[in-house]
Amino acid sequence: MESSRDGLAMVRLNEVRRNEVAVEAPQAFDAGLAFIGVIRTPWTSRLDCPRQGRDDGPICRIEVSEPWVAALDGIEAFERIEVLYWLHESRRDLVRQSPANDGATRGTFALRSPVRPNPIGTALVTLVRREGPALLVRGLDCLDMTPLIDLKPDRCLFTPLAPPQPGDFETG
Ligand code: SAM
Repeated sequence: MESSRDGLAMVRLNEVRRNEVAVEAPQAFDAGLAFIGVIRTPWTSRLDCPRQGRDDGPICRIEVSEPWVAALDGIEAFERIEVLYWLHESRRDLVRQSPANDGATRGTFALRSPVRPNPIGTALVTLVRREGPALLVRGLDCLDMTPLIDLKPDRCLFTPLAPPQPGDFETG
């Protein structure tokens, strides 16, 4: 049975606050995602997670599933990696939110809140080391068992390997 503390936490986690605006979100989806693994972190409650990861935060473990492990080849060369993850416990229907719960609201796309129509989280993390199918990293801010969507080298460290194409030189 749910304890009253858990009940209060659920209300807080999914509440609509003063002046926030919820909409009727579409029932059908435009695209399908394939989760490629899970992220193991020390946090089991959204109320305890950091709002944003930090470089000196705890080591977290990104576990890549088969058949995607081969896709990690070469990743050790990058000190920083961009991680995309699915904030699976988020509601998805708020267009205005009140982060401080003080009645002042802002549009969802002007926030990095986990509550968004497509709850994608991104973080630039520091790679500590690779252990086979897993990457040990610092800089995450998600719940334990958050689904993993994608991994990319930090764009500032990455030089495209493919030959240049005209758009690369377009300005103005
Ligand atoms: N760094 C990412 C970004 O900027 O896109 C996520 C930032 S978001 C503010 C981080 C918060 O999302 C955490 O403090 C926690 O409250 C919430 N969160 C973390 N993991 C979640 C999950 N799996 N489902 C729903 N909410 C989550």
